[in-house]
Amino acid sequence: MNFNFSSEQLAFRDEVREFLEDYRELDGFYGQGHRWPQVRAFFCAMAERNWLALNWPTEHGGLGLGHVHEYILWNEVARYRAARNPLAAGIVAKSIMRYGTPWQQETYLPPIRRGEMHFSLCYSEPEAGSDLAGLRLKAERDGDHYRINGQKCWQSYAQDMDYLWVLARTGTQESRGRGLSLFIVDKASAGVRVSPIPTVDGDQLNEVFFDDVVVPKAQRVGEENSAWSIIGEALADERHIQFPPGRVRRDLEDMVQWLNTQRMGNDPLVRARMAELAVRVRETEMLGLKVLESMVNASNATVDAAMNKILHTVTCQALARTVLDLGGPEALVYSHQPERLWRQSLTETIGGGTSEIMRSVIARQRLDLEG
Ligand SMILES: Cc1cc2nc3c(=O)[nH]c(=O)nc-3n(C[C@H](O)[C@H](O)[C@H](O)COP(=O)(O)OP(=O)(O)OC[C@H]3O[C@@H](n4cnc5c(N)ncnc54)[C@H](O)[C@@H]3O)c2cc1C
Repeated sequence: MNFNFSSEQLAFRDEVREFLEDYRELDGFYGQGHRWPQVRAFFCAMAERNWLALNWPTEHGGLGLGHVHEYILWNEVARYRAARNPLAAGIVAKSIMRYGTPWQQETYLPPIRRGEMHFSLCYSEPEAGSDLAGLRLKAERDGDHYRINGQKCWQSYAQDMDYLWVLARTGTQESRGRGLSLFIVDKASAGVRVSPIPTVDGDQLNEVFFDDVVVPKAQRVGEENSAWSIIGEALADERHIQFPPGRVRRDLEDMVQWLNTQRMGNDPLVRARMAELAVRVRETEMLGLKVLESMVNASNATVDAAMNKILHTVTCQALARTVLDLGGPEALVYSHQPERLWRQSLTETIGGGTSEIMRSVIARQRLDLEG
């Protein structure tokens, strides 16, 4: 495995860092819901360099630069805590490029590339998260339209996004994953209602209700009942940028800085505990690169990505929890960095697939344990 970037890639990393210096205070990686106009402006500034389409093919207006550049970009953005990679330019755009009609490509790709159009992912429901194939949101054909009825739950950023990327049932309930289709739904459509769910980190998720929402057939992406493979491919496309280690490194740096401001850096117990965590942060960085290498070699990154997700999220929890234990009452003060990072890290072993589901993937696919 080669851990080194080329000189051209390192020069790109320097360019990204220079750009990000102006966004040190943005803080959009956590709490995007509190500062969406600023994060949106940040995406537009990235788009001026065509960085939202860094890894898109040139025929779709992208730079065609590949996975390594994309990894470098979003890893640095995470390290600066500026923002998370937008779903529109990733999962949504890449699916439209692969499965969208020419009309969909012309209509949606340019504004996404310019950072002007943003999507919320509407997959999970109250009774369908880990068991996504059991979802019930119904889309029924009515001439040239579909009528969508039902409810989604836990949608990130839906309060601010312009469009919804909706996974809905077009087949029977028994057809499970083989009876699902994907739709682009304008959030301003009649019958769409978004309702907030406050989260422990001070931000929010959302419920999204669909009450006889009429969606033109032209806004279905891919064939009817073919969505399962489309969302699987889209997820696979993004594995190298979903849990970037730059975020974990930044958490470690912030925790060390906080301990030093408390004059705790000379305590042998503190030093030993933080040194142990520094080893885990390094492991996270190595595993992040392993996922990237699999992507570059076009080999299956599913298991490494599952391992990466567990290590990344659990290390973030361990970092904040350790400093809460070491730091005493000061660390618990509301919105002080350890307390803030602790609350933030709690949700992350659930979103994007729970740790238990990730462990099942590893057991089944890497260890050949049946179940
Ligand atoms: C911060 C955050 C952001 C999110 N953003 C989005 C979003 O933008 N769009 C979206 O559609 N969804 C989103 N989700 C929803 C997320 O995908 C689901 O919460 C997740 O898949 C788990 O589903 P669930 O909540 O229904 O829990 P369940 O699937 O009901 O699981 C409950 C518990 O049972 C365990 N469990 C379930 N099945 C198994 C099994 N087969 N084997 C072992 N253990 C199992 C789980 O690990 C968990 O501990 C988000 C969630 C969070 C926390």
